[in-house]
Order: sequence, then C-alpha cells, then structure tokens
Amino acid sequence: MFGNQARPKACFTLWLGLQQRLLTADRLLKWGLEATKICVLCNRVPENHEHLFVLCPVARTLWARILTWSNKGMFNVVHWEDFMKWSVASSKGKGQQAQICKMIINAEVLHTLWRERNQRIFEKKSVTVERLAKDLAYVCTVRAPTGSQVLVQNFSF
Ligand SMILES: [Zn+2]
Repeated sequence: MFGNQARPKACFTLWLGLQQRLLTADRLLKWGLEATKICVLCNRVPENHEHLFVLCPVARTLWARILTWSNKGMFNVVHWEDFMKWSVASSKGKGQQAQICKMIINAEVLHTLWRERNQRIFEKKSVTVERLAKDLAYVCTVRAPTGSQVLVQNFSF
C-alpha cells in the first residue's frame, strides 16, 4: 500500500490516520489529557479523525479542489468507514500510474490537513484553504510519476 511516491512523512500520516492513531482531541481527552476540543480548522465541531479528514468544511473544500483539479471525480464520502474503503480502493486501481497518483493525493491531503491543524494549535499560524490547495497541487505535481499528464497539465486553479 505504501509503495507510492508521496513524501515519506505524508505516507506516515496516512498510515496513522487510517488507523485513527493520530493524536486528535477525542483521543487525548480519552486519556485525560488537556486538548483543544473543537476542530481548529472550522472552529465548530469536536475534533476526531472522521471530522478532521472527512467532514470538516475545510477538509471537504480541499478534497473537492484537489480531486477536481486532478480529474479524479467528486469527494462523496461522508462516513469514516466509506473513507477507509475509498482510500484502500484508491491503492488498488488498475493502471499503476493512476494508482500512484491517487495514493499521492490521498497521503498528501491527510498530511496537509494534519500539518495545518498542528500549526494552528501549536504555532498559532494559519493559511487559507486556497493556499493549502495550491501547495498541495504543487507537491502532487512534483511527486507524480513522469507521464502523469493529468496532474501536470492542469497545474493551475
Ligand atoms: Zn472542522
């Protein structure tokens, strides 16, 4: 599953994220640790994996932007279980290049969201979802295998 060309740290975030092992607020609170309970990306809803990566309006905007940009269709997932299935399915695509592209996107989106969430909490810094999407598109373009014209030719929003 991780023989893809996303950055190693992004693969690691994906690996932990899919197992719900990132230290989101719900997990910290379960252990009795102090944490910001509310999602710092939208400031509306308690934070957990499903919210942060699937339901948060910031996450959904990012998924929508990046999937549209790379011609990978719509982000229709609304439950964690479906997100898991969708993630696993994306690593089993037919064409190897299609598969690699999807995996890069998957890992890099999770990593982008997780990093932005940490910057907002620990460094009190934030950037717009548009900026996140542009940076993400850039990383995906750079990491995509040669010949992935879809990624390269559409590199602009
Ligand atoms: Zn949120």
